[in-house]
Amino acid sequence: MTRFDTIAIVDWSSGKDTGPTPRKDAIWLGVTRDGTDAEPQYIRNRMEAEVRLAALIEQERAAGRRLMIGFDFPFGFPDGFAKGLTGSTDPFAVWHWLETHIEDSAQGNNRFEIAARINGCFPGIGPFWFNGLKQDIPGLPRRDTREGHGVPEKRRCDIAAKGAFACWQMGGAGAVGGQVLTGLPVLHRLRQSFAGQVAVWPFEPPAAPVVFAEIWPGLINPAVKKAEAAGGIRDAHQVRLLARALSGLSETELADMLDVSAPEEGWIMGLGHEPRLVEAAQTLRPPPLRNDCFALPAGVDWTPVDTALDFLRDRLHPVVAPAELPLADCLDRVLAAPVTAHRANPPQPNTAVDGYGFAHASLGEEDQVLPLVEGRAAAGAPYGGHVPKGCAIRVLTGAALPEGVDTVILQEDVTVGADRIAFRAGVKPGANTRRAGEDVMAGDTILSPGRVLTPADLALAAATGRACLPVRHRLRVAVLSTGDELREAGQATGEGQIFDANRPLLLGLARKFGYAPVDLGRVPDDRAALRALLDQGAARADVILTSGGASAGDEDHVSALLNETGAMAQWRIAVKPGRPLALGLWNGTPVFGLPGNPVAAMVCTLIFARPAMRLLAGEAWRAPHALTVPAAFHKAKKPGRREYLRARLRDGRAEVFKSEGSGRISGLSWAEGLVELPDGAATIAPGDPVTYLPFDSFY
Ligand code: AMP
Ligand code: MG
Repeated sequence: MTRFDTIAIVDWSSGKDTGPTPRKDAIWLGVTRDGTDAEPQYIRNRMEAEVRLAALIEQERAAGRRLMIGFDFPFGFPDGFAKGLTGSTDPFAVWHWLETHIEDSAQGNNRFEIAARINGCFPGIGPFWFNGLKQDIPGLPRRDTREGHGVPEKRRCDIAAKGAFACWQMGGAGAVGGQVLTGLPVLHRLRQSFAGQVAVWPFEPPAAPVVFAEIWPGLINPAVKKAEAAGGIRDAHQVRLLARALSGLSETELADMLDVSAPEEGWIMGLGHEPRLVEAAQTLRPPPLRNDCFALPAGVDWTPVDTALDFLRDRLHPVVAPAELPLADCLDRVLAAPVTAHRANPPQPNTAVDGYGFAHASLGEEDQVLPLVEGRAAAGAPYGGHVPKGCAIRVLTGAALPEGVDTVILQEDVTVGADRIAFRAGVKPGANTRRAGEDVMAGDTILSPGRVLTPADLALAAATGRACLPVRHRLRVAVLSTGDELREAGQATGEGQIFDANRPLLLGLARKFGYAPVDLGRVPDDRAALRALLDQGAARADVILTSGGASAGDEDHVSALLNETGAMAQWRIAVKPGRPLALGLWNGTPVFGLPGNPVAAMVCTLIFARPAMRLLAGEAWRAPHALTVPAAFHKAKKPGRREYLRARLRDGRAEVFKSEGSGRISGLSWAEGLVELPDGAATIAPGDPVTYLPFDSFY
């Protein structure tokens, strides 16, 4: 079962709405495409809805996209009804019967007459009831005076769904009878015009490119209520949130919800999974990256490093969704939204020291003797009374200043008698106190989005009354190595085989960056195997790092495959070390096709993938903190490309590794950072200033 690219949710209506202004009780259509919600659409009537839905199906089919459309009315009736009406248990026989008998137009429809006519096929009175028209309709009771019709009142799923209506009631608040009778003929026609492309769940397996499913917004009521509190039309919220909820489900969750047998009555999709649906309805998924997000300027032979970085900076955006997490889970997480203080810090004026408090205005010019009031103020144990002018009170650090106190004298500066204190003149007003809000005022923005939360940030959030913070899910970084020559460390090796060094390197870097590494293993130079692993990577991670096979040779399958998607860019960057990189999207997931050489793989990861991943993870763009230090080496470089040398600081000077060979892994391990040499020509002698980037500054 593959997921659906597009989810459309229809809130049906059997009434007639002629006005151009959106209102509730008309038809509403909510669409989520690739995790992005479109503005819910208002549709005036069923004829327009039928045209719009047919166009939607055509459009999504033409784009090769899988589509699920959810309708908020029953697809089937309680067991036994189909047989009574059509002589068959096939629910589609009922659809066909209704399609033949219901007449519907912008002026109105014959649903009440048809309900009466159906009642005629059953003994007794009913099962349909309620007449919304002025004139009486023989066979359709106005009130629920039904008896002896022999059909169950509700389907199994209606019984299981708390608050769901039976389908027999033709009108009144919440009734669905009219929607079923006017909706099923439309579904019948759509199913026929797109024969072979549409499956109606659960009567048919949901494997077709287009699937119709019965849904019920009541399942996500808590989410709808929350959204409604901020205004807007309820039906619009319902279709938008339900479309978002279904599109946010994983393949397994979706398969789980669709694993139902109800061959005659049908079933409400997601029934029994309400908590998950409510959660998914409230999870905003960021929009997908654009296909051209890695394109570089045309016609440039070797793109300068800074140009390439500017492009990444412009085009990439967060791909991981936000969630509210308790403070205890927020360390090292990326903040998704601005955080404001719920409460001032300090919340009330208090004393900064252990000592004695009084009103400064009551002091004279000379040395002071103040009588002590009984009692004291301590942190968490405030003094309830008022301290009279000219009196002092014992106060302990952190205590709220009692009424009548604005100044505190340190206990070390005081002589204490039995019931009074003495101290020198010259105490400043407000001494040794902290003003309410002197640190942070309630409502102040204390933390900005894009920040990676530190222990101190958590302290600030806690102090200002924030128990939860809006943070992003951790970026999942999949790593995979390609090459026929690769073996796992410790495995037996044959001639020409080497151990896979890049995977431990890249998995380790992903972890150091604060992300969740996903080990995809190794693949030989085989396109089908690589394709399967990329599929896995796209399903399990938010970004994929591959190494090897990224150039344009015969065995460069990473670039060949990414090329097929039409969303690849071959990055020829003026940088050493680093051969061409292959950047692209695989099923919408960004892929960094890194060079196979471990040194180039590491340098390209630090210089390009690192800042890119910051943006994908929701972090602010940031260059590594560079130090300018004297060189401890000689080097002459030609103009035309930037160079990175494996380096480390000793005695305040940057030394570089003895070899620039790009296969020399020992040099990577030896180094503690990189020396960055400019794009232009450079001659460096010992003592000359150079730019040093400690590895730590990338983490
Ligand atoms: P490629 O980019 O696939 O042409 O590989 C360039 C060089 O890097 C070759 O010498 C490969 O053997 C080597 N190489 C590729 N992948 C790895 C790896 N995972 N670990 C160590 N060396 C590798
Ligand atoms: Mg290779």
